[in-house]
Amino acid sequence: MRTKQFKSESKKLMDMMINSIYTHKEIFLRELISNASDALDKLYFRSLTDSSVGIAPDEFAIRLEIDQDARTLKIIDNGCGMTEDELDNNLGTIAKSGSLAFKQENEKQENVDIIGQFGVGFYSAFMVSDKVTVESRAFGSDQAYCWKSSGVDGYTISPCEKETVGTTVTLHIKEKTEDENYDEYLDQYRISALVKKYSDYIRHPIQMEFTTKEPVEKPEGDDSEPEYRDVTELRTLNSMIPLWKKAKNEITPEEYSSFYQEKFYDYEDPVRVIHTKTEGQATYSALLFIPKHAPFDYYTKEYEKGLQLYSKGVLIMEKCADLLPDYFSFVKGLVDSEDLSLNISREMLQHDGQLKLIAKTLEKKIKSELEKMLKDDREAYEAFFNAFGIQLKFGVYNDYGMHKETLQDLLLFRSSNEKKPVTLKEYTERMKEGQESIYYACGETDDKIDMLPQTDAVKDKGYEILYLTENVDEFALKMLAEYDGKKFVNICDDQLDLADEDEKKALETENEAAKDLFAAMKEALGDKVDSVRFTNKLKKHPVCLTSEGGISLEMEKTLNAMPGAGDNKVKAHLVLEVNAGHPIAEKLKALFESDKDQLAKATRLLYGEACLIGGAAVPDPVEHSTLVCELLTGK
Ligand code: ADP
Repeated sequence: MRTKQFKSESKKLMDMMINSIYTHKEIFLRELISNASDALDKLYFRSLTDSSVGIAPDEFAIRLEIDQDARTLKIIDNGCGMTEDELDNNLGTIAKSGSLAFKQENEKQENVDIIGQFGVGFYSAFMVSDKVTVESRAFGSDQAYCWKSSGVDGYTISPCEKETVGTTVTLHIKEKTEDENYDEYLDQYRISALVKKYSDYIRHPIQMEFTTKEPVEKPEGDDSEPEYRDVTELRTLNSMIPLWKKAKNEITPEEYSSFYQEKFYDYEDPVRVIHTKTEGQATYSALLFIPKHAPFDYYTKEYEKGLQLYSKGVLIMEKCADLLPDYFSFVKGLVDSEDLSLNISREMLQHDGQLKLIAKTLEKKIKSELEKMLKDDREAYEAFFNAFGIQLKFGVYNDYGMHKETLQDLLLFRSSNEKKPVTLKEYTERMKEGQESIYYACGETDDKIDMLPQTDAVKDKGYEILYLTENVDEFALKMLAEYDGKKFVNICDDQLDLADEDEKKALETENEAAKDLFAAMKEALGDKVDSVRFTNKLKKHPVCLTSEGGISLEMEKTLNAMPGAGDNKVKAHLVLEVNAGHPIAEKLKALFESDKDQLAKATRLLYGEACLIGGAAVPDPVEHSTLVCELLTGK
């Protein structure tokens, strides 16, 4: 018998399979089962209109057989089978351009990892076998043929005996090596776990004889060692109907929950389930879950976002990142599309228009589900926001604010009204007449914000203040810049302007008159502040620090703490503001006239006070303490 050569591309691909150091060799089973399932489909559809097929719908099945002694694993189907020519063409060549593209890409990148992600077809059998036999009898033919190959050297085809229509693929499993335990592919538990993992939703039954041990019953009073006997039963390994393919009204909340918990390893129910089917431009089903709590690694680099991607019930990718935007990375779930082929490479997936379309519609669905939750179940939404709000705020800030429109109405901030979370919409809707801006303050905690010297005056006016206690908060608001035409104003920023025209004029005159006093005070502080001036926005506090130019003290802290900040430290421009209505103002004026030395000390002391009441540390505690002692002792 003449040995035929593989076509050159096939040869290369096969070579790669055989020599693959890839760790996900296990996907060979998925590939062969998918082929068998396709073959069953073909004959099944034919049987609907052609009574000569003679197979009842429930008789179409895939059988797996393990023979440990012979070291073989068989994948048997009663599908359409292959003729001699088909064996030659289909298994001697790479049939689909998908495999070819995959191979070319792989050659470029030397990245064998790709093998596990996508369909690589029949040749993957050679990752685990040193010989493969395919016996097949095509529907409508009396003669069966046997295709044999031990790898790159080629293959033979010869007539053989086969009673029934269909295909039997026999893998001669490789011997165990130091690096790879091929024996596991002869283990019934491992094989059934692989079927569950990759092929659970193949719509034909995948069956295997399962052998378990059962204790042999003994007569009463017999105390001898228990004996066991083998019991063999035919088991169906896959559950066949995917939950997401069922109609929504046929699924109970418990079913959704247990599916979610089992598949996505959560111990709690999801807070929301999104189950959709779409036909038209992109045909797919999606089953998405919003978790109740953030996984422990959610806010770390280790967390990988993504949805499972199925093609007609077969898992082709464990985590398809392109299906979820970063700001919704907490969503778990899967997409099953009719339009994606198994043989699709990562590169192709990225450029796949279908996938982009699906991602776009899913994003809209997730957003509207969150909006619904915000509207109908505030408590649940607040809990959700506690877990994932930071991610949404990062979403506003990232990509130069590209997604702010999408996300701004999903944000919550606690506020000075009742300390409860409010949306920006709620804030603007209840703004006082004449209020032009949305006020916010930054601090470690709500209490610390309440103690800020600027807080009183804003509250006194009856304006609500948003409390920003997370590092990302102010960055997100800066990116938004405004909401509903109202600017965001940090109450510690020099933009805070609560005075009316008369008050402003009076203050200006006072500031002008005290120019020399301020120059002396600025000199005493060096570059700690940019300038000194009077303010009338303080109530009981004598002084405060205000930032100019958009970088607040909080932002300075956050930015400088970022990895990579290095020597490029950011600096907030600070102004020491003195309460013009406070007795301290007169005292300073008097000191300026009588004792410049004392003025300098008082200024440094007041600067320290301003730091403390603003929630920052005193830069030089020793000096501060000395100054206080001097003041107390009069020395
Ligand atoms: P793909 O499945 O992507 O086409 P494969 O290399 O896995 O690529 O298979 C090549 C072809 O061989 C299939 O398209 C199919 O026509 C044929 N084939 C493989 N396995 C079977 C089978 N069990 N029964 C019938 N035909 C098969």
